[in-house]
Amino acid sequence: MGKKRKSGGRSKGKKGGVAQVQCSSCNRMIPRDKAKRKTSYKTLVDYAIGKELRQQGTQIERVPYVRYFCVSCAIHRHQVKIRSADERKNT
Ligand SMILES: [Zn+2]
Repeated sequence: MGKKRKSGGRSKGKKGGVAQVQCSSCNRMIPRDKAKRKTSYKTLVDYAIGKELRQQGTQIERVPYVRYFCVSCAIHRHQVKIRSADERKNT
């Protein structure tokens, strides 16, 4: 049977297996190398106060938080697009 993707949609290479992570949207368990990672930043300061402080030139700390999404959720949230056979071969 032909393969849709050379990597099988993963980046583990010849490794046997990788750790599982939980999808932040649907809670499904997925391999870490297959999951789509999204890093967002949160501020600990209230938005209105933070806006005023920023105008005065204050540096406000941003706390990164990482979320993992399964392929289904990543497509649903438009983080990745469905690509045609030719486009898939590019990268
Ligand atoms: Zn999901």
